[in-house]
Amino acid sequence: MGDEMDGNTILAEALKSQGVEYVFGIVGIPVIELSMAMQAAGMHYVGCRNEQAACYAAQAIGFLTGKPAVCLVVSGPGLLHVFGGMANAQINCWPMIVIGGSCPQDHEGIGGFQECHQVELARPYCKYSVRPPHPKLIPTHVEKAVRLATYGRPGVSYLDFPGNMLSMSVPLADVCVVSKVPPPPVAFPDPAKVREAALILTQSKRPLVIIGKGAAYGKAESALQDLIHTCNLPFLPTPMGKGVVSDMDDNCVAPARSAALQKADAILLFGARLNWMLHFGRPPRFNPNVKIIQVDLCAEEFHNSRASTVAIQGDIKIVCGSILQELSSQRWKLPPSSSWWDLLKGKVQGNKTTVSKMIADIRPPLNYYTVFHHIQELIPKDAIICSEGANTMDIGRTLLSNTLPRHRLDAGTFGTMGVGLGFAVASALWCQKYAPGKRVICVEGDSAFGFSGMEVETMFRYKLPIIIIVVNNNGIYGGFDQDTYNAIRDGADPTQVTPPTALTVRVRYDNMMSLFGKKGFFCKTIPEVQEAVKESLKVLDSPSIINIAINPAADRKPQPFNWLTESKL
Ligand code: ADP
Ligand code: MG
Repeated sequence: MGDEMDGNTILAEALKSQGVEYVFGIVGIPVIELSMAMQAAGMHYVGCRNEQAACYAAQAIGFLTGKPAVCLVVSGPGLLHVFGGMANAQINCWPMIVIGGSCPQDHEGIGGFQECHQVELARPYCKYSVRPPHPKLIPTHVEKAVRLATYGRPGVSYLDFPGNMLSMSVPLADVCVVSKVPPPPVAFPDPAKVREAALILTQSKRPLVIIGKGAAYGKAESALQDLIHTCNLPFLPTPMGKGVVSDMDDNCVAPARSAALQKADAILLFGARLNWMLHFGRPPRFNPNVKIIQVDLCAEEFHNSRASTVAIQGDIKIVCGSILQELSSQRWKLPPSSSWWDLLKGKVQGNKTTVSKMIADIRPPLNYYTVFHHIQELIPKDAIICSEGANTMDIGRTLLSNTLPRHRLDAGTFGTMGVGLGFAVASALWCQKYAPGKRVICVEGDSAFGFSGMEVETMFRYKLPIIIIVVNNNGIYGGFDQDTYNAIRDGADPTQVTPPTALTVRVRYDNMMSLFGKKGFFCKTIPEVQEAVKESLKVLDSPSIINIAINPAADRKPQPFNWLTESKL
């Protein structure tokens, strides 16, 4: 027997030997023994309360480290529950491996327990979806799953394991031996394209750099900081591109976003797609004549939505360095006294004045701006911020700064709500291992928190000191309005009058801490918020919940453009 190995152990050892460190999941038949084999192989197994959250946690590890984590689920419903998460990872271009148990092969077709076409169902949400044909071939498919998840444009792999294959023992000598996947190849740019890009920049009057989450994933921070500082270029981060160059940097023109996009005559686009998040790159949000220099490792992405003037295939870190070298050899830099900088600085200042009025208004019921400003004042500047919700995420993004790359995780390209707590669990585990003492702040709208609120128990179980801040306006977008509230109080039928966007007024999410014999914080005023944040920062071995009741009618400051509606298609 000593020279035999079962499928569970072969799989666990294969994952471990490919460098997979973390597994997030929910176990049941037929993967309980597999989860134990994974622990025995030395992997971190983290049990979650909802498969979606497990899937979000696994992909956050992919974004933070560039290495895939596993999301482990049971057959049928277990796997179906992670498709939202798989789609989210795939669309964000993050690596992840999903492993699903499935019903024993001799039960297939005759109504097996939780039987469904798992490999086919998973296929649209991943780059590789397969059931290894025999336990002895598991290492081959694990290697391919890791390779496809991380090479080229990162994404998701799905591996399917019928219960009988996991429990089957095979002679050790029959198990295939596969070497470890080398790190993804680094793509170098075409020098002619780099020269074209430099020419466009040196001829432009109003250049702009856009930093996307591809730059964060590609660890291009020092190359981008060099380029921006040496050439004095203004830059705009996308939501998860924040922190690649610090939000506090003098060259960050995020507060002048509309003007920067609209007026730039040359845009260096690093690892960001011209999709809805960047208004499709089209007028009226972009200058119709802007020359776009698009840098991406995925050639299929080029010229999507609008034609780029120069498309450079390559790794951002390398391309950025090559462009800088070309510009430096010409001693080119944007003069600080240019009319472009004057315009941008003016807009940044104007925005600061508008926002400072909202911040100064600390009368309860509180508005978003003053809440985020005071949170920002107290949280460590190197914290990882996970955030979701509609206004909470959008307004929070403008006031909660990131000074480091890969320190913001949010609803992302797919606009997925429910990601926050799973992301926070993964981030806190990452901190424990790679950045002890660093804090994770999870800033949630009340609706967003509801999608995966039970993961507070996961945080408690693993002693993760995540600070959950629920910005509570009693609903989705706007909360309950006063008339509806009064009508229900006076006896109206709630099913007739409650707006679909409404949630129960003043839910005491903070009381969830009493599940663990602890106390949360309920805040209606700024001093209460300040006290709660300070106290929560002292807690090092459990999550905290700060529930902030804000004005249900609080909104964004007036916007020059309507969200999504104004791109000329
Ligand atoms: P954002 O949401 O910040 O706009 P997107 O997810 O739309 O960013 O775009 C990220 C892009 O970055 C993807 O097109 C992806 O192919 C690309 N990308 C990821 N890593 C790298 C890298 N190391 N070098 C170049 N491009 C990359
Ligand atoms: Mg809300």
